[in-house]
Amino acid sequence: MSRFWSAVVHGLTPYVPGEQPRIDNLVKLNTNEHPYGPSPKALQAIRMEVADSLRLYPDPNAERLKGALAARFAVQPQQVFVGNGSDEVLAHIFHALLRHERPLWFPDITYSFYPVYCDLYGIARRQIALADDYSIRADDYLPQGGERAGAIIIANPNAPTGRLLALDDIERIVAGNPEAVVVIDEAYIDFGGESAIGLVNRHPNLLVVQTFSKSRSLAGLRVGYAVGHADLIEGLERLKNSFNSYPLDRMAIAGAVASVEDEPHFRESCRRVIATREQLSTDLAALGFEVLPSAANFVFARHPRHDAGELALALRNRAILVRHFKAPRIDQFLRITVGTDSQCGQLVRVLGELL
Ligand code: PMP
Repeated sequence: MSRFWSAVVHGLTPYVPGEQPRIDNLVKLNTNEHPYGPSPKALQAIRMEVADSLRLYPDPNAERLKGALAARFAVQPQQVFVGNGSDEVLAHIFHALLRHERPLWFPDITYSFYPVYCDLYGIARRQIALADDYSIRADDYLPQGGERAGAIIIANPNAPTGRLLALDDIERIVAGNPEAVVVIDEAYIDFGGESAIGLVNRHPNLLVVQTFSKSRSLAGLRVGYAVGHADLIEGLERLKNSFNSYPLDRMAIAGAVASVEDEPHFRESCRRVIATREQLSTDLAALGFEVLPSAANFVFARHPRHDAGELALALRNRAILVRHFKAPRIDQFLRITVGTDSQCGQLVRVLGELL
């Protein structure tokens, strides 16, 4: 580590993403990508953009994309913020909380980028334990005695558990913390939950983050967005414009717009993943796994008699990648992305041989 950088850089513990090896001959069920690929209309729009327009700068405000998202969610374009994947959107949100006088609250088991951003920006945090069944208890996120949150972030469905918090509970948290921004990270919402975007016009402190990486099968394009009150969005725009004036490139804007406009493809591809998830959960249960109820495109499962780390390694030796987290309370679970029927069938077959 260079002695020329400040102590801030030395003190960072960066986020470690799941492996991204070449996928030839591998069954890749470790990073929650969608198995069936994006809308053909999105691919066509990207090809046309490559052929015609890369000479030109993109629209710095990505107006077409904000317009398409605003139309889909029945909000105004000024209520939409876009970025390079929801990770970048989240990074701007966390940055906006820098030097907040009160801590950020989030579950102790959740998307592991949240503590990384807290450390990066020096944001105080309070991590709230999940219930014994790994669900989030909404009551734990209401002001406790004199203690109040500066902001709250909840992934819904949560990662890596896949468990869903009901929309009523989300609204209770939002309404119960009117002085705090409540961020709902809905990376996986399209696989079984109801979005909180429908609540943003009633609650000026609610910000909902979504991504094109999962249900729209465009993880490689890097597009995410936040929807909320225009005042919240305006603050994020200020921050973003202080860094980078072109949030998205031309291919990302063109592909994302075409994806949003292809509703039938979106619905059908989510439906297929949900059907496969239900079959996979049944098959894993038949092998003796305890499978948490999932509203996401992955399942979280543990076997009472087999070590999860060893199972992940044994699967890897059979060219199947799943995710294993060496973290307290979840180190006996495997997080398995819902792949195609044939990939999930192969996983179940190999597990049957290993157990
Ligand atoms: N939020 C959650 C809960 C996630 O699991 C992920 C994917 N790792 C993201 C956000 C970020 O996704 P992306 O940057 O691809 O939009």
